[in-house]
Amino acid sequence: MNRIDYQQCPVCQSDRISHKLTAKDYTVSQEKFDIWECAACTVRFTQHVPPIEAIGAYYQSAEYISHSDTKEGLINRMYHSVRKITMRSKQNWVKTAAGVKTGNLLDVGSGSGAFLHHMKQLGWNVTGLEPDAGARENTKKLYNIDALPIHELFTLENGQYDCITMWHVLEHVHDLHGYLEKLKQLLKPGGALLVAVPNYTSTDARLYGEYWAAYDVPRHLYHFSPFPWTC
Ligand SMILES: [Zn+2]
Repeated sequence: MNRIDYQQCPVCQSDRISHKLTAKDYTVSQEKFDIWECAACTVRFTQHVPPIEAIGAYYQSAEYISHSDTKEGLINRMYHSVRKITMRSKQNWVKTAAGVKTGNLLDVGSGSGAFLHHMKQLGWNVTGLEPDAGARENTKKLYNIDALPIHELFTLENGQYDCITMWHVLEHVHDLHGYLEKLKQLLKPGGALLVAVPNYTSTDARLYGEYWAAYDVPRHLYHFSPFPWTC
């Protein structure tokens, strides 16, 4: 199978990249993947990842939590603990970052729609984008909200959102720069983009090393840290 062989950092294009560790896909394929690090911007990335047209096979698991709401299995429980951010925290971040009490909100990777529903109840106009058809159906069934397929991102009208949220989504996106450029265009002047991603410098990550659940290779293409901006 074709794999993406990064010769430069996928984030900053530096060629100061090198192998850091090797992690295993415990959830679906049991394959091992190398994780490299960029000395220029500190991002880590999964090397030799399947291209976008082949990555789907690595999401084909009843256990993969983005596609189901079951909490069975150790990996899923770990995954849930990594992903769990309370609605109240999200709501407060949106309000603070956007600087408005209500407005237009776009949630990219809206899953089964719980966050869309929560924000709609608070008076926001919500739009959800979600790649998984089953999750979009659930959003309709549970909350009567029509989430759009993910490719609709590029058809949305620019300059209309007070806030765009991506909760544990950006690390899955092949077209990193294309997405970020479009998201920037979609915001109103002064609007806010909120991105939550796993942090490989966290206590959990340091403790578990290559077994850290949030490396989640090859589904997680990038592994971010707060550095160098905070040090
Ligand atoms: Zn870099």
